[in-house]
Amino acid sequence: MLYIGSHTSFLKDKQLLGVVEESLSYNSNAFMFYTGSNQSTLRFPVDKELTKEAHALMIENNIDKNNCIVHAPFIINLANNSDPDKYNFYINFLKQELNRCIELDIRKMVLHPGSYTTLSRTEGIKNIANGLNIALKNINGVELLLEYMSGKGTEVGSSIDDLKGIFDLLDSDVKEKVFVCLDTCHMNDSGVDIKDIDKFLDEFDEKIGIDKIKCVHINDSYNIIGSHKDRHANFGYGTIGFDNLINVIYNKRLDNIPKILETPWINRNERDAWAPYKQEIEMIRKKEFVDYINL
Ligand SMILES: [Zn+2]
Repeated sequence: MLYIGSHTSFLKDKQLLGVVEESLSYNSNAFMFYTGSNQSTLRFPVDKELTKEAHALMIENNIDKNNCIVHAPFIINLANNSDPDKYNFYINFLKQELNRCIELDIRKMVLHPGSYTTLSRTEGIKNIANGLNIALKNINGVELLLEYMSGKGTEVGSSIDDLKGIFDLLDSDVKEKVFVCLDTCHMNDSGVDIKDIDKFLDEFDEKIGIDKIKCVHINDSYNIIGSHKDRHANFGYGTIGFDNLINVIYNKRLDNIPKILETPWINRNERDAWAPYKQEIEMIRKKEFVDYINL
């Protein structure tokens, strides 16, 4: 079954209800959102009534909450502990965000593993695992998905071995709560050939286990394979291309896993910017490319 959706906006006045309404306008049956700014830790309280209304609207429209995802803010960096106050602040903020997921009754959260900056990759991997061991110890009922990264700068998580390194250091009770979110743009930019997705999945299965994949971000890339850049392009308009992305979405081994678009808005720096998700989702459902930007 195809579960497809996009990034959406969680705003103060309508909160999760607004997210569901926006998703329905794109004909999505899955979605993702940040519970506030992705660059700050400022958060407004969750409104119980709006949350209840949102879940009722989801049920009415056959949106299974298991296909819906919260994205943790970019500023959390568990990979670097050279400033212990900062490191502890990020661990505590991650806990807060996980509890916010429980309040919203959306039980999957994607997290960027982090950047080791002045440390080494090995130390970065150790710090991430340690941070997760602390943050997830007493929090149950939320799955944390580590995102596969492009390897920009000193990012950890841009290879299967990086992710395996983190899993290997998790306490067994925490390990059960940690999963992976793939991202086709990040994979391409990290050096994975998306044309040969099965080769990647074979290696992933051997080293981590394919059951650990719980979401795929479906983005095209502006950059060539191995560029370590991380610039998302619209679906079918980048270097990965429409057919290769369709093959990932409909790959039997990734069936039933939510696919989320994080592609850029059209005219995004202008006043008439608009979200391409309705068009992209229609192309994905029909498996047919339409050059809707230049129509
Ligand atoms: Zn992400």
